[in-house]
Order: sequence, then C-alpha cells, then structure tokens
Amino acid sequence: MIVSRSPQQPTDVVVEVAATESAQVDAAVARARAARRGWAQAAAPRAAALHAAADLVATRAEQLEDLVVREVGKPRTEARGEVARTAAILRYYAEQVFDPVGAVHEPSTSGLLLTQRRPHGVAGLITPWNFPLAIPLWKAAPALAFGNAVVLKPAPEATACALAIAEILDECLPPGVFTVVPGEAQTGQALVECADVVSFTGSVAAGRAVAAAAGARGVPVQAEMGGQNPSIVLPDADVQTAAAHVTAAAMGYAGQKCTATKRVIVVGDPEPLREAFVAAVEALAVGDPGSTQTVVGPVVTEQARARVLQAAESARAAGGRLLTGAAPVPDDGWYVGPTVVEGVPADHELACDEVFGPICLLQQARDVDDAVAMANGVRFGLAAGLYTNDLDAVLSLTGRLDAGLVKVNAPTSGVDFYLPFGGEKASSIGGREQGKAAHDFYTSVHTVTIARP
Ligand code: NAD
Repeated sequence: MIVSRSPQQPTDVVVEVAATESAQVDAAVARARAARRGWAQAAAPRAAALHAAADLVATRAEQLEDLVVREVGKPRTEARGEVARTAAILRYYAEQVFDPVGAVHEPSTSGLLLTQRRPHGVAGLITPWNFPLAIPLWKAAPALAFGNAVVLKPAPEATACALAIAEILDECLPPGVFTVVPGEAQTGQALVECADVVSFTGSVAAGRAVAAAAGARGVPVQAEMGGQNPSIVLPDADVQTAAAHVTAAAMGYAGQKCTATKRVIVVGDPEPLREAFVAAVEALAVGDPGSTQTVVGPVVTEQARARVLQAAESARAAGGRLLTGAAPVPDDGWYVGPTVVEGVPADHELACDEVFGPICLLQQARDVDDAVAMANGVRFGLAAGLYTNDLDAVLSLTGRLDAGLVKVNAPTSGVDFYLPFGGEKASSIGGREQGKAAHDFYTSVHTVTIARP
C-alpha cells in the first residue's frame, strides 16, 4: 500500500492507494504501446491536447497549489510558481510539435537524402517528490509532444499530485497514452524492464540502478540525480546580495532542491559574509507552508528530518561550529530549523555529500584557485554559483567549474525550462533534459535514402 502523508501534519493521509504490481505495469505499457501509434500520427491533435491540458492546469491552479502544499509541504508561494511553470511547460512543448523533425540533404548521386526523428514508443518516467508537478511534466510533455506514450512512476510521497496530473491528462489525451503507476522502487524497476526509453530523476543510488538496468536492455536512458552545489563568494562581491541569494538557495523549500546551495565558499575575509548570511537565515519565516509568508516549511518525512539533525550533530562532533540552527520550529510535523555550520573537516558529509534539507556549510578558501578546487572537489556537478563583479574572474571561472549549471550573481536554485538541464559527474547520466534537448532524447534519428529507380 502507498500511503502519502502531509509533512506538516503527518496524521493527515493525503492518499492511500495500492502499489502497482509488475504484471499491471506490463499491462499499462502494453496499453500505451497500442495507443501510441495513433497518437504519433499527426502533430496538430497533439498540440491541441497539450494546450488543453495547460488550460486545465490553469483552471485548477488553486486546487493544484493546495495539493502541492499539503502533500509535500512546499511553501505556498513556491507551490503557486510550480503550478504556473507546469502550465508553461505544457504550452512550450505543445508548440514544439511543429518544429522540424529532420533535414533534407544533397544526395550523393541522385534522389533524396534526409533525416527524420521518430518517437521511441513508450517512455517510462520515474520521478522524485520535490517538484511533484513540474518534474513529471517536464519529462511527460516533451515525450508526448514528440509522439511517445507515457507511463509515469511517481515518488510515493507525491502520489496524489501525480494522480491529479493523470486526471487532467485523461481528459485531454486519448485513452492509454498517459498512465500513472503508483508504487515504490519495485514498480519503478518493473517499468524500466519494459519501457522503450527511460527518464529518471532522484538520488544517485537509484539513478545508477535505473541506468544500469535500462542500459542492460539497450534502451535510451537519462538519469538526473543529486547535487552538492557550491557558491563561491569573491572578495569584491556585494555581500548583502550574495547573502540574500545563498540564503534563498540553501534554505528555500527547506533545502530540498537538487540545485540548492550546500556550500558557501568565501575567498578572503569571511566575517562580513558570515554575519550577513547568519542574519538572513535567522530572518527567514519558518513554519506552516500554507502561509504565503513562509519560506521554510517542513522536510518531507521523519527520516529526512532525522538525517538533517544527524548531520548537524556529526558536524559538532567533528569539531564544527553551528553558526545558527536552534530556531524554534512547530512541534507538529517534520520541521527542522535552518542550520549553518562551519569548520568541519574536508571529508565530512556536509562538505561532500548531499544532505537534502535546510543545512548549509560555510567554507573558507585561501584564494580563487583554492575555491575552485574546493568547489570541484566533490563527486557531484549539478549547479555552481559565483558572486563577483570582476568580469575577468567571471570569464575565467565559469569555464572551470564542474557543473551543468553555472550561475553568476544568481542563486544556484532555479531552472529555466526552455534551456537544457543536467549535471556533470555523479549528478547525471545520459543526455540533458528540458529545452530543445528533450527533442533529441525522446526521439531517435533515422537517415533515409531515396534513390531514383
Ligand atoms: P529517490 O531516488 O529515493 O526516488 C526517486 C524515484 O525513484 C522514486 O519514484 C522512487 O520510488 C524511485 N526508485 C527508487 N529506487 C528505484 C529503483 N531501484 N528502480 C526504479 N525506481 C526507483 O529520490 P527522492 O528522495 O524521491 O528525491 C530526492 C533526490 O532527487 C535528491 O537526491 C535530489 O537531489 C534528486 N533530485 C534531482 C533533480 C535533478 O534534476 N537533478 C531534481 C529533483 C530531485
């Protein structure tokens, strides 16, 4: 049984559904495979269906926003933004159905030589809970736009949001073209065993297992995974701006974004930034995610809270200093106060691993080269930030940071859906997603030679 509970009030069961058995996953994929031929046939009906879905998202915006707040504890203002983004993603890909699907070339002798992109068939999508509408849709919308059918295995913690998406798409798409299969890892594994293309977002361990299983079957796979995202602050940076940005990027939605800032690396005197950062964190509104004022709500589960508290405790035991983190939080729900730590050894988990919650490490670098070495000295490479007004530093450092997203004078968190998204090193496997990159992933290119008889 899948039981999804509200993080701010764990006695509130948002939805309870049976987990999908392997045989049911096979059946959903078979139904999708049968439905996808008609779906792939003509572009205009696909565009119309995706626009209709965007319209329904907009019509149901308030309900969806409430559901995101309730099911995954996302603060209301961010939840509202996610709903708007979801509609925008649907519209963006609705129009892309009209993009060229190939190119005509000069034949080597006579006739016609051309390339043609075709859908793979059934896309198996496996998603996390932290963007419970946007991530499923930033995968499903392009998969559908380019003529695939979709079977989605959502995170158990975001089951109700996924079912709300299914309700909307059911009203707009032909039967069988989009199906949600609620479940845990086993349901995801079953999906990887029968889909024609696999897109995963989640943790490194699960992503590697998914990529290995899909790779063994020879089907295209992409896995977007965790981050341990640094923000480097150079001595000339505007301290107040940098502090405001790293606070938002580290603590917004309780640090539960793959692009959240996990380390702030200061070059030069750390004191002004330390003071401004701690003050900004202590000024954050922590509490009920239903309020539009709240910036930091609960983390998603009791285990997630325990993991943050354990990391803070182990930092202390390793000689680190807690700069802030003792703020009172509501008793009910999985709240943990936004925490900033410094002075831990270089191999401490807060310096190397992803702790998915509102905890951030402040580090000092001797000089710019040391800062780059520290930023790059982790196995992840999703996002990296840089604060400076020195154009030479910007030009030289943006090319030296091992990250799929490099943000200058901007928070590491935040993604533009119309640009390619993905990381380096352990953060990603396979091609980028979103933007125009999605067309490449959800189709394969065929070269067609038409010779004169
Ligand atoms: P998770 O890895 O626990 O679960 C992700 C999904 O994979 C869930 O649907 C889960 O049921 C499924 N799953 C788990 N094991 C599986 C297996 N062996 N085979 C098939 N499916 C399996 O991650 P989570 O806790 O839901 O999400 C948090 C993680 O996601 C963090 O590490 C975060 O950084 C990452 N994330 C990455 C991005 C990105 O785009 N890079 C975006 C959001 C979240």
